[in-house]
This record gives sequence, C-alpha cells and structure tokens, in this order.
Amino acid sequence: DVHTPAAAGLSPSSSKPEERLAAGRTGYALDRQHVFHSWSAQKAIEPMTVVDAAGSWIWDGEGNRILDLASQLVFTNAGHKHPKIIAAIQEQAQRLCTVAPQHANDARSEAARLITELLPDDINHVFFTNGGADANEHAVRMARLHTGRRKVFSAYRSYHGGTQLAVNLTGDPRRIPNDDDAAVVHFLPAYPYRSYFSAETQEQESERALTHLRSMLLLEGPDQVAALILESVPGTAGIYVPPVGYMQGVRELCDEFGIVFIADEVMAGFGRTGKWFAFEHFGIEPDIVTFAKGVNSGYVPLGGVAMDDAVYNTFAEKPYPGGLTYSGHPLAAAAAVANIGAMREEQMVENAAALGQELIAPRLQQMLADHPSVGDVRGLGAFWAIELVRDQQTKEPLAPYGQTHPVMNQLVASAKSQGVLPFMNMNRLHICPPLNITTQDITFGLNVIDDVLSISDQHATP
Ligand code: PLP
Repeated sequence: DVHTPAAAGLSPSSSKPEERLAAGRTGYALDRQHVFHSWSAQKAIEPMTVVDAAGSWIWDGEGNRILDLASQLVFTNAGHKHPKIIAAIQEQAQRLCTVAPQHANDARSEAARLITELLPDDINHVFFTNGGADANEHAVRMARLHTGRRKVFSAYRSYHGGTQLAVNLTGDPRRIPNDDDAAVVHFLPAYPYRSYFSAETQEQESERALTHLRSMLLLEGPDQVAALILESVPGTAGIYVPPVGYMQGVRELCDEFGIVFIADEVMAGFGRTGKWFAFEHFGIEPDIVTFAKGVNSGYVPLGGVAMDDAVYNTFAEKPYPGGLTYSGHPLAAAAAVANIGAMREEQMVENAAALGQELIAPRLQQMLADHPSVGDVRGLGAFWAIELVRDQQTKEPLAPYGQTHPVMNQLVASAKSQGVLPFMNMNRLHICPPLNITTQDITFGLNVIDDVLSISDQHATP
C-alpha cells in the first residue's frame, strides 16, 4: 500500500493519560495568563491545548485524540515524532547544540547541499533564516541589491509572513496599510474560480491575468521593479492552483524586464503538492526560492533563501548587509537533513501525489456534487481547499472575504468533536495532512469532513 510507508515505527503516544490531562490543565491556565497569541483578539480566543502527538495525530489536554488534517500550520510534512528526525536532533544536541553563523558547520553544510540538490542546477547557495517571513525579507533585500531597483510586485490573495516587509508583501485583508517606503505593488493573480477578468476558461484566465500584470509593470516602470514574489501555489489565501500557462507567462515577463522571480515555497514546498517544489508543476525555474515549514517538518524553526548563481555573484566580492544569529542553527539543520532523508527513503513526495490523485481528489469531487454549500474543490498532492458558498450558481461566499462566519466555527467544532482538525480560513476548509498519512486515517478524516458539510448545507440554496 503506497499510502502507508512511514507509519511503521511510530508509537501512539509517549505520555500517560493522567499526565496529558495535568499538562492540559496547567498549559491552558498559564497560557491564558501569560501568552500573547498570533493574529488574535487575546480575550476572545480559547486555544486548544496540545500535549502530545504522533504521526498524523495529536492529543489535546482534555484527553482526546485528534487527526491533524492541517499538519499544524501546514508544516508537519513528515508527521509528528518521526523517529529519524528525533534521533538526528538528539545526536546533534549531544555533539554540538549551537554555533555562531560565521563558522562553518557540517550539519548546516549538508542541509544546504541537500536543499540545492533538489533545486534547479543554477541554484547552488542557501542563506538560512529562522522561518518564512524573514526568508522573504532577505530575498527581497538581495533582489534589490542585485538589480539596484526598489519596487516589488506581489499578488492579492497571498500570504508572505507577519514581519514588517513580509506583511506588506502579503495581499490579504489582515495586512496593515502599506508602509509608504515598502514600495510594494499588488497585482491581481490568476484565480480561475473567481476570475477578476471575467474569464470563462483556464486559458482566458491565464492570458488576461498576464495582460493585467504586463500593464501594471509598464505603468509602474519595469526598470524600477527589483522582484516579483509569488507563491507557486498560493496557500493560506485559498490553495488556488495557477491555470496552465500562467507561471510560464510570469517567468517570461520577469525575463523580459530583468526582474528577479522569487518563488515563495514556504507552504507549498518540500513535497506538499506531490513534487519537491510546487513550481516544478509549471516547468519554470525561479531565480530565488524561499522555504521554511516542510524543510524539517517544523521540528526546530528553520527557513531559507536559495539563490541562483547570478544573485550569489552580486555578493561574491561585496558584503551582503544582513544576517541572523541563528542562521543555519545545527539542531534545525540536522532536523532538515533527517527530514529530507526520511522523505526520500519513505517516498513521501510520491505518496503525497498518489494521495491527492487517488484518494483526496475523487472524494472532494463527490462532496462538490453532494453538498450545495460546496462551491469549489481544488488542490494538488496533500494540499487541498474546499470553498464554501451560499449558492453554487452565484458563488456568493459563505463568509464575505476577510471575515469568518459563525457557521465556519461550527463546522470546525463539529469536526473536532468527531476527532478531526481541518485548517479553516474565511469561507474555506483546507485539507493538508502529513504526506505520510495512512489510507485509513485520511479516509476517516474525509468521512468526518463530508459529514459536517451538512451544517453549511443548511445555509446554502439547495
Ligand atoms: N510564506 C508563505 C507562503 C507562508 O504560507 C507563510 C506562513 O504560513 C510564510 C511565508 C511565513 O512563514 P513564517 O510564519 O515561518 O514566518
């Protein structure tokens, strides 16, 4: 069974039930007293306490075992508690726990070698960061210094991170108003389900979105544009797969105007879409690839900027003005080496592709046919979205863009009470399990999702 390679060797949980309950109680109480959470009104939230995990499952502080269809925030690509990654972190910790960035280190060097081996031939160097946002910050800084230009193009319906420039790059309603000096220009991306260009086919969408992008570049002055940053398959904003020809067209525009093409592979990279990197689906090669999350399944924070030789050579003789104390931290790097090794040995990328094609796609298509509240289903590999609507004809979203409807919270609560956790954003449920989830587990998860959609159906035109 191709869907079950990595499950072997995973123990269900290392802790005892009473220990988990105690950790849950203390964890929750102290969280509410002292922890400030991301993206939240602090007093309005009731975070679930997670106290243990194994493979595709987590244990909450109330004694429940829950199937994690979100891979946390789409990063546990190899699942929780993978024995090979844990062993690598332990070995590294015993030998050399930490090292300053100016020294060479074997764990960091091997991680860089493995990552560049997976990327196009002219991408041979990696600048390591602590996560995705700082990778994008540095990628843009490198592109600006490389081209001597300042403006950066990024898409609406995108997510590039929560730090100052990264949040300016981000094109979603949580974005604080653009800083005047960020010099970020947002363009409308290809989004076939809700075409901004009144396109009726994928070909039209691709062609019209490219015409729009070309006009915007010309209006902004392409000789002032340093970089264009795009998620190869936009994730947080809706897992919408670009139509045929779009990414090639973007690549051609960047070539025509000497613009650095940055592919943000933070969420879509490292096997998530059924290929090592999502840009591979479109036959293009970016100039810079940013990554994080799946590079080491998030066991220790790690991100990075992988750059081609042209960008690298800009800084061969003159210094790059930027750095991070923990750039290429050995524990994170050792986890990346083990993670990539395990993904290769256990064929997790191939598994994600098969999972998508054989199991997830047909089930979601069936949900689209069965449920009036399902407007669209789309994705690749282990990276899928279900977009919920009030009416399949008008496509009126179940929750207006930028908001969450109470019924969305009900869906997630109901799924959770049945032991399944999807990712929820605005009017969408995302199904992003670990790449090595078993056939039995994904089937169970999709059965529960299918079941809870009857709640949203009550708010949709039959
Ligand atoms: N880029 C993309 C495409 C992401 O999905 C994310 C996080 O979800 C980021 C960047 C930011 O990464 P981090 O939260 O590690 O800074």
